[in-house]
This record gives sequence, C-alpha cells and structure tokens, in this order.
Amino acid sequence: MSRVLRPLVRLPWRSIPLRPFLARRSYSTPSMEQAQEPKTDYPALDKAIKKISYTDYAQRYLGKPAPEGVRVVKSRLTLMIDGEIKGYNYMLLRDACKCKLCVDEHSKQRKFRTTDIPPVIRPRDVKWDGKELQIKWSSDIEGWGPDHVSKYDEAILQESRANPPKSNTGKLRRRFLWDNELMEDNQHWVSYEDYMNDEKAFIKAMRFLSLMGIIFVKDIPDSREMVEKIATRMGPLRNTFYGPTWDVRSVPQAKNVAYTNVSLGFHMDLMYMNEPPGFQLLHCLENSCDGGESLFVDSFRAAHLLRYKFPEAFEALTKLHLNYEYNHKEHVYNNSWPVLEMDHADSKERIFRVNYSPPFQAPMVLDDDVHANWTEYRRALATFESIIERNKLVFQLKLNPGECVIFENRRVLHARNKFNTEQGKRWLAGAYVDEDALLSTFRTSRYANPNLWHRTRVQPPRKAAAEGQATAEDYGIE
Ligand SMILES: [Zn+2]
Repeated sequence: MSRVLRPLVRLPWRSIPLRPFLARRSYSTPSMEQAQEPKTDYPALDKAIKKISYTDYAQRYLGKPAPEGVRVVKSRLTLMIDGEIKGYNYMLLRDACKCKLCVDEHSKQRKFRTTDIPPVIRPRDVKWDGKELQIKWSSDIEGWGPDHVSKYDEAILQESRANPPKSNTGKLRRRFLWDNELMEDNQHWVSYEDYMNDEKAFIKAMRFLSLMGIIFVKDIPDSREMVEKIATRMGPLRNTFYGPTWDVRSVPQAKNVAYTNVSLGFHMDLMYMNEPPGFQLLHCLENSCDGGESLFVDSFRAAHLLRYKFPEAFEALTKLHLNYEYNHKEHVYNNSWPVLEMDHADSKERIFRVNYSPPFQAPMVLDDDVHANWTEYRRALATFESIIERNKLVFQLKLNPGECVIFENRRVLHARNKFNTEQGKRWLAGAYVDEDALLSTFRTSRYANPNLWHRTRVQPPRKAAAEGQATAEDYGIE
C-alpha cells in the first residue's frame, strides 16, 4: 500500500463519500497494483490524494473519531459532497449558522457580528448523515450556551449565497441570445389580465424576461396608470428626475432627444447615472403617426459576434471608456463606462455588461488613454456599431395602443424610427425598475414554481450554427 493512499482506505473516507471519484477512476477497492499505476495518468486523483493527507484532530476536539465522511483538522472540517471535497474553516462555518439563536426568526437579521466569533472556536461534537451537518462548539461566541447546535443542509454547504450571480436567476445568469430571426419566431407576449392575475403566466413571463431580456404585454386597459401597475408587479418603480413614470411624446425643443420626432439611434437609458436602471417599460397609449416603429437589438449577441469575428476589436472595447452626461441647468449627471465589461473572475470570461449609448455621450477630448489609442478604438467602435445595426440583428415592431414592451435596459438596445406628427399622435408612457428588484423577482418566481421556471425555455434557433454562433452554448439555455 502506498503511503499517500493509506489515509484513503483507513479512516473516515471508506464507504459513501469516496465512491463517486473512486468509481470514476476504477479505484473502487484501492490496492497495491492500482496505487502503483503511473500518477501522470490520473492528475485529478493525484491532486485529490494530496489534499487528503492530513493530521487528524478528531480525538483532540471530539474525543472520538470523526463520523464517516467527515475529517476534522486543526482549523477546518472537510466533507465530501457530490464527489467533491470541500473544506470549511470553523470560524466561517460558525458564521454561517442560521439557527434561531443566531438569526432573528422574523427579521432574519443576525444577532452577532462575524468578529464576535473567537478565533479559537472548534467543534466539540459533529454529526453528518450525508445531507445535514450538525455541530456543537467549543469556545463559542460569548453568551451562546452549550445547547447551541449549528445545522447546515446540503444546499447551504454547496452555495451559501441567496441568489448567486451565476445561478439562472442571478446577474451573471446565462442568457438566450437572439437576433431578428429568432425574435420573429419567439417573442413572448402575455395579456395584461394574465400578467396581473395568473401566477403561472407571470412566472413564465419573468423566465422569458430573464432569458431574452425582452417581453411584451398586450390587451392593456387604455389608461395612463397602467405602466405603473405593470412595473410594480415586478418591483418598486425606480424614481429619477423624469419622475416615477414619464411620457414620450413629441414636444418642441425637448431637452432630451427621446422627446423629438427625429429618428433616435440605438441606445441604453440613463448611462450618465452611477446606477442606470436595469429594466425599462414603454406602454403605448397612442401611435397613429406614420413611422415611430420601435427597434431592439440584443447587445450581448452583438458583443458575442464581435468577439468571434473581430477579437482585437472586442479587446479594444473592453478598454475604451466612453463618457456620458446629462448637463442642464436643473440636473447635472455624468459617468464613464467601458463599452464592454467582462467578468474576469469567471473562467469563461463571460460578458457582464455592454454599455452603449451614443446620444448621451460626452466629450472625451482630455482622456489620455483615448488619445493614445484612438485609431484602434475608433475602428473597434465602428465595427461594433456596424454589427449592432445589421438588419439580421435588429428586431422591429410598431407598438399598438394597449401594448407594452418590458426590456433589460442594460442589455437590449432600443431605438425608434422617425415619425410624422403632422398626421396622428404618438404617446408612450415609460417607467423603470431596478435590476436588483428583478433579480429578486426572478428568484421568488423560481421558488414559487421551480418546475415551471426550469421547464420554460426558448425554442432553439432553426439554424443552430448561424454566423458567429460557434457553439450552442452561446444561446445559454438553462
Ligand atoms: Zn446558531
């Protein structure tokens, strides 16, 4: 028996916990012959074995061997969950306790501070049945008596955050990227009545909104109040200097370009703010003018295409910061954003945000980086714009009275064609809801009906290998 393997077969790791990876490696009964196989053939196992060598503190802390599947070392406890070895620092494990002594039952607020936990804390009793871990502590927080038992279920041991960014309701959730063809076939429409009163229809709508970043509500009563009702079904209104809700109508000499009858190019709203609103609603009350069609583009799809076809341009736009401003007598806002933001902590280097809003750009004439790299930046930006404006990507429709579009402001670029106000009228009522509120609503929708949430999917595109679509993964079905 090799020395490195001995701990494997000796103590706590015998039956349940080791089976998954031993089986995978054909090591179900570790033996001399198997241990002598060249290690280079099994780099993952080799790594796992290295992790396994340890000094057992179970006797010292618990006065007996640790229960099966648990390893107790000096400053942490190790478990194998789903074939994966996970270590938990005692202080952090104690910190994660959500029992009634530690967390108020009603407010769910903590009754201790992280730094109240003594660094010398350690377990004095441990139970583990493969599903739930129970720990009694030595040197617990002052005031916590011997009756205090910390219990952790499998879910919290796997992921302690309430709505982790990469879950299918988190801010780094995978999205279903779309182009014009896909939207022509897969727009999600829900009636106002169902959206407001049928929980399943609402959950389904939220699932589509989380995946595609755009949905439509129809058959809305003809009232200016409705945009607020539709918005607050998802979350509280986001107030801005435009008011809790606002109107887009043709107004002479408007201060904001959205209020005129000339065409308005692709943009995102309020990029001059520190926290631009996550979601936007536009409820059509009148649209009898010629023109005035709404145009939408999935900026994540455009960014993926750019990355695939012009990687240097993509790279340049992760560095180019553009300035945005709203500069009037009454309100002065400004901010700066890189055109493309990546999640660098993610091995897949997922795109986290696209920030693109030319009508609200501000001068960048004094920016040294922009000066130094302008030729490259200019070319990259022009390439990105040409992708955004391709007909293939643009989804166009003319909203009719009684229809409302809900879209992710920080993903779906919107624009509108010019319209003629001499004949007919155009009136949209708008509102914003913050991203935080929607992430919460996505999660509560999933809690309310997990089956429906997971079952609700966008139909895969007819042509899976469309241009720039290297893998089906880009469509991010979850
Ligand atoms: Zn507790």
